[in-house]
Amino acid sequence: MECPRCKADNPDNAVYCKKCGMIVYGFVPLDSPALAAPRQQIVRTIRGRDSSDVIFPEWWAFIPLILFAISIAISIAIALLSISSFSIGFMGNSPTTVMTQYLPFYAVEIGYSMTYSVILGYLAYKLVSRENNHYLREKRLKKAMVDFFDRAAGSPERKNQLSREISNLSLSYEDEPKRRNPLLWAMVFIVPSAVSNIYSLATFGALYNWSYSDPMDFASIMGILMISMLILLMAVIFLILEFYMFHFLGKTLKEHETKWHAFVYNSNLLLSKVGFPAQERMSATKIHSRDTIVYVICTIFTLGLFMLFWWYCLVKDPNEHLAQQQEFEGHLLKVLS
Ligand SMILES: [Zn+2]
Ligand SMILES: [Zn+2]
Repeated sequence: MECPRCKADNPDNAVYCKKCGMIVYGFVPLDSPALAAPRQQIVRTIRGRDSSDVIFPEWWAFIPLILFAISIAISIAIALLSISSFSIGFMGNSPTTVMTQYLPFYAVEIGYSMTYSVILGYLAYKLVSRENNHYLREKRLKKAMVDFFDRAAGSPERKNQLSREISNLSLSYEDEPKRRNPLLWAMVFIVPSAVSNIYSLATFGALYNWSYSDPMDFASIMGILMISMLILLMAVIFLILEFYMFHFLGKTLKEHETKWHAFVYNSNLLLSKVGFPAQERMSATKIHSRDTIVYVICTIFTLGLFMLFWWYCLVKDPNEHLAQQQEFEGHLLKVLS
């Protein structure tokens, strides 16, 4: 019988390999039909990555930055254009005339603000659903690997020899992160913008019909003030939710990645113990830990600018993890299929 580790030829009744000392008794040949089903299962879960593990194009990381730059450009253009048109039209004209002049600028502002939040919502949707799908698929892969090594171990003696790595492997898929609803997290970006735009439209309409001769009473001014405060409060609550989404996306990925490294390490040990070549070159670059508290403070002190970098990390970090995972899975495919 050939030793699975060093390929030395041993007598058929040997318990230990005479050359390297590996237990060869009870060895299940790698081409045995007993291993065919778990091997296929592993190959199937890896192939499933085409739909679950999407590496986003690099420019996606810059989408929030691009949106922000466009909104700054629009604001400047509107400010310049409205200053020049107001100076001609404001004197002696009714608010309705002035606002009619302002209407096209206002429409652009509202339209862009909605587009902005819908695109961010879409990005949030993609980020949350990508993590969901990836974790689910990886759990299936890990289960299939445990099943495979369990069967490949063969005799109780060999099982004993592999038991530590196999139990480490099964640990690596326990308490996987919970699934999040991607649509709900997309709404966290769309709803506050929709509400404040509707409110802005309503105020615009009210001002449009208002004339100088008909001054607003105290109650309606207080009403407008109250609603404005409520809108502000809503914006703060939604901002906290956005921070929370950033927090859990980063944190679950980091925890997941730590388990992934343990999984690769134990899988490689097991592969070589049952006679497969282990992966020769392992890239072990780790994703940065992103400290939520520090990032929130940075966001506040930069008046939100830092959030653009945070978005960038949320696109880039999972991309890196998925690329690294594909490398190892490519090796698995090569030796198992
Ligand atoms: Zn040997
Ligand atoms: Zn993974």
